[in-house]
Amino acid sequence: MVPPAGGGDPEAPAPAPAAERPPAPGPGSGPTAALSPAAGKVPQASAMKRSDPHHQHQRHRDGGEALVSPDGTVTEAPRTVKKQIQFADQKQEFNKRPTKIGRRSLSRSISQSSTDSYSSAASYTDSSDDETSPRDKQQKNSKGSSDFCVKNIKQAEFGRREIEIAEQEMPALMALRKRAQGEKPLAGAKIVGCTHITAQTAVLMETLGALGAQCRWAACNIYSTLNEVAAALAESGFPVFAWKGESEDDFWWCIDRCVNVEGWQPNMILDDGGDLTHWIYKKYPNMFKKIKGIVEESVTGVHRLYQLSKAGKLCVPAMNVNDSVTKQKFDNLYCCRESILDGLKRTTDMMFGGKQVVVCGYGEVGKGCCAALKAMGSIVYVTEIDPICALQACMDGFRLVKLNEVIRQVDIVITCTGNKNVVTREHLDRMKNSCIVCNMGHSNTEIDVASLRTPELTWERVRSQVDHVIWPDGKRIVLLAEGRLLNLSCSTVPTFVLSITATTQALALIELYNAPEGRYKQDVYLLPKKMDEYVASLHLPTFDAHLTELTDEQAKYLGLNKNGPFKPNYYRY
Ligand code: NAD
Repeated sequence: MVPPAGGGDPEAPAPAPAAERPPAPGPGSGPTAALSPAAGKVPQASAMKRSDPHHQHQRHRDGGEALVSPDGTVTEAPRTVKKQIQFADQKQEFNKRPTKIGRRSLSRSISQSSTDSYSSAASYTDSSDDETSPRDKQQKNSKGSSDFCVKNIKQAEFGRREIEIAEQEMPALMALRKRAQGEKPLAGAKIVGCTHITAQTAVLMETLGALGAQCRWAACNIYSTLNEVAAALAESGFPVFAWKGESEDDFWWCIDRCVNVEGWQPNMILDDGGDLTHWIYKKYPNMFKKIKGIVEESVTGVHRLYQLSKAGKLCVPAMNVNDSVTKQKFDNLYCCRESILDGLKRTTDMMFGGKQVVVCGYGEVGKGCCAALKAMGSIVYVTEIDPICALQACMDGFRLVKLNEVIRQVDIVITCTGNKNVVTREHLDRMKNSCIVCNMGHSNTEIDVASLRTPELTWERVRSQVDHVIWPDGKRIVLLAEGRLLNLSCSTVPTFVLSITATTQALALIELYNAPEGRYKQDVYLLPKKMDEYVASLHLPTFDAHLTELTDEQAKYLGLNKNGPFKPNYYRY
């Protein structure tokens, strides 16, 4: 059952501060619900209160702490180191960009998100020999529109099939479409988007369209666009400007084509990485007069928004979708639990049973990797720096070790710490022959890959994303994806997980677009917990799951509204 919109705290939600701010909003809800279908309503915005006394410390995803008082309110906590690391990486990633992307006519370096390899979006129709830049082609869809730029509009039919397959694993968006169709909560919304252009994004875009929005879209990553999906979207009338293998110049050109249109101005932004937001800030600052809000998905983009906010330069409200419970838990734990095996299998064809694996870091990602490998019969060791996560690993039945203690014997080393230099050259020197080394963390510095680029070591590319690094004595290690995120580089990400994130994005757009004047100020907010709960509830029918409802007596006993939110902000799930 979907919780109906509740009345409640009319207070405007307080913004969620950067890494210092809490990862969840407070209880209560505001007066607006954008959707009110009979079957259930999208819950409304919640107010987040501030507090001072009796704080507890709450671990933030990015390594900082939110200070949480017993009533669930939260205050600032120290800024994190991890985010700084990510920004440093961003520079590195840029420096490593292929040289063919040389036309830097535009002013700003491309973002990490735009360059990260993301072959989960591997196109099945990339065999085309057509080297002509899509920018130089005249293309029209079957209705005569040429307001798009894709690799090849003729691939539309194939892309449509991909979208239809994705729809089957994105039940919440499909439910949202059905429920909100009559009401059109996004009628009048003009959304400009910059995300990976995959079948899952297409389902999101078409849902936004079904809810009344007009959309224009560019890719947030130069490698990740599925050409056939982009073609299918263009064929059904979406102005899409994206293709796989854009140059940097193309990348910004595509973004510009989405924004700089005669007779059309966006009033909402959906961004993944912050590049689109940055572009509008830089080139068309006046557009913000009409923009009602920004929804941002990535760690990097969210960090940029907090920086803008801190500098007093954020001129519209923004929703930080990255830190929603439903994104964090599912993206990190469940997604990695499934994709670690896929990534390893596709690159190495290895068997997992009986293999000795060491997983560095027992956070959400590490927990997912360990669970999957254990289930396959691997012998799993864990390294941790945090005694709490270390104790969790022990209680879950894993041997907690220092990397040095097992480095000579393990068959696979997986890093998932979000830290740097976890696997050093010294470790790499001591690994046994054929040891597989890979990373599931955000940054490509968890493994000191740079230290392997020395004259005495030979690199042999044996497959796409697979390198053998060979020592003078003949020992070789198998390095996957050059130490970048294994699952995003070498496997697919489960559509169901993306469905959860996409639904969260859709609800955030609906909330910001429909919020009454003054509910959101020029700051960064977290999606109200009630909406997180709603996103989860929309995915339950897939499992024929039957949620228990509180009785009046029970609700009173627990001091809860029967319709949620069901947990205080500091609840860790
Ligand atoms: P987390 O903070 O929950 O877990 C990281 C763990 O690593 C922590 O418990 C920390 O104590 C531990 N750690 C830090 N330094 C260490 C060291 N030197 N040795 C051993 N342990 C150490 O974070 P998370 O949610 O598990 O994410 C981990 C990384 O994975 C992040 O960089 C995140 O951005 C990334 N991530 C990847 C995916 C993916 O699809 N591959 C998905 C989500 C997040």
